[in-house]
Amino acid sequence: MSDCKTGAEHIKSLKDGRTVYLDGNLVGDVTEHPAFRNAVHSAAALYDFQAQPENLELMTFRPNGSNRRVNRAWQMPRSYEEMVQRRKAMQAWAAQSCGYFGRSPDHLASSLVGQRMGIEVFKKHSPERAKAFADYFDFASKNDVFLTYVIINPQAERGKAWGEQDEDLVARIVDEDAGGVTVRGAKMLGTSSIMANEVFVANLQPLKAGEEALAFSCALPMNVKGLRVLSRKSYEQHAVSLYDNPLSARFDENDALMYFDDVKVPWERLFVYRDPDMCRAQFHDTQGHAYQNYQAQIRLSVKIAFLAGLARRITEAIGTTNIPSVAEQLGMLAAEVGMVNAMLSGMEASGSQLGEWYVPNKHFMYSAQVLTQDLYPRVIRTIRELAGGALIMLPSSVRDFANPEMTAIINKTQRSATMQPEQKVKFLKAAWDAVGSEFGSRHTQYEMFYAGARFVTCGHSFRTFDWKGAGALVDSLLSSYDLQSELAGANH
Ligand SMILES: Cc1cc2nc3c(=O)[nH]c(=O)nc-3n(C[C@H](O)[C@H](O)[C@H](O)COP(=O)(O)OP(=O)(O)OC[C@H]3O[C@@H](n4cnc5c(N)ncnc54)[C@H](O)[C@@H]3O)c2cc1C
Repeated sequence: MSDCKTGAEHIKSLKDGRTVYLDGNLVGDVTEHPAFRNAVHSAAALYDFQAQPENLELMTFRPNGSNRRVNRAWQMPRSYEEMVQRRKAMQAWAAQSCGYFGRSPDHLASSLVGQRMGIEVFKKHSPERAKAFADYFDFASKNDVFLTYVIINPQAERGKAWGEQDEDLVARIVDEDAGGVTVRGAKMLGTSSIMANEVFVANLQPLKAGEEALAFSCALPMNVKGLRVLSRKSYEQHAVSLYDNPLSARFDENDALMYFDDVKVPWERLFVYRDPDMCRAQFHDTQGHAYQNYQAQIRLSVKIAFLAGLARRITEAIGTTNIPSVAEQLGMLAAEVGMVNAMLSGMEASGSQLGEWYVPNKHFMYSAQVLTQDLYPRVIRTIRELAGGALIMLPSSVRDFANPEMTAIINKTQRSATMQPEQKVKFLKAAWDAVGSEFGSRHTQYEMFYAGARFVTCGHSFRTFDWKGAGALVDSLLSSYDLQSELAGANH
């Protein structure tokens, strides 16, 4: 047996009879279905990457009492140095998908690490629920479990409170007995759920008194009885070929509505029970929210560098790199990549010791979240602007190259000072997949919303900023002069 989880083990674990629907049909084995199999294999490749002997130290560590190594995302940093070491592992993982796997396994591992640091918060809620959470963390971390989460309620009528929505919309507790509780209703939008082992269910949106039935949190295996996964359109299935859509064909992690059709949750898998404020506290009074979104910025640092690389290569392909205004745009893009990296370094360098644990600077993390959800669509627009029609004036598919007459014309028309015609076509197809395909477009939506709409992320920034310090500077100025002195001429 390998010293840590491998891709083959992960693929085997997904053949579990989960209930996934696509295009009106029940999907059988997600590891073999043409809508999902490549993404599943790309996810499995993450485990093979960590299992390579030369990567073991970079990517994994051995938890206390465990006979196998697991991904460093499960490591709870005790110092700045450990935090940086952990981040390097996550950047290496993100590089495997050019940052396009938003919900790679390290996202939820990070959330659970942060929540585990705040176990006292769970204990205040209930010693039984705290024990259930600590035991679950032990199980998930020691087995390098791939988790996704659904923590958001389906949009229906945003003008109504969650508890006022029509019955069976928002997942809620509808029954309970000695074995556990029964949950009915929906949550959105389980990214990566088709290739995860388990789903963490919680409620991040504010709940109020009277909405106790909605106020729960638990973790369930993806094949639990009654869990129905309604996939969105598969971009992988519609990718023309790997050559035409190298990203869609391999990294379509999927998003899905989860419908809980009377799903039984055993008490030992229930972490929050009928407590609206604890739903908030689970993420915000622990380090859960900070750690999960810190991971998201780590991943973004890779994706944004990839996009800058694409942008520069586009200008090389069409021979514009040295035009001063183009170089200026590239310079701006490079500065934006620098800003993302600087914010990441800032979160780490100005992190703090919280008892045993080292935690990232929360306000720097929220600043990054707010700024990057705006930055991403701007970067995509810059790349489109730099490219013009190059992203569209492309052969209909790789099969055009199988026709010698067409290849002759392609070779005459796909000219570039720096690339052979075939190289240019290959590259521009990849660039379009990143910024303009349906897959690329979904990524813009993802980066704008995965952490909440702007009013939500700005709310976090508002809440965590040092207003006292900023206000003190204003007070200091105002106290340096006054009306009476001014009138008496003493202020000069
Ligand atoms: C690609 C993708 C993948 C996702 N994956 C996951 C996942 O894996 N797990 C998960 O739990 N969630 C996931 N989500 C859901 C994501 O967390 C939510 O989309 C996000 O929190 C925003 O919530 P919402 O979609 O309900 O939008 P809303 O909160 O309804 O916001 C939409 C827009 O409505 C307006 N609006 C609504 N309410 C207000 C208000 N009170 N004040 C001001 N303006 C308002 C604003 O214009 C806002 O931009 C995913 C989303 C996307 C797009």
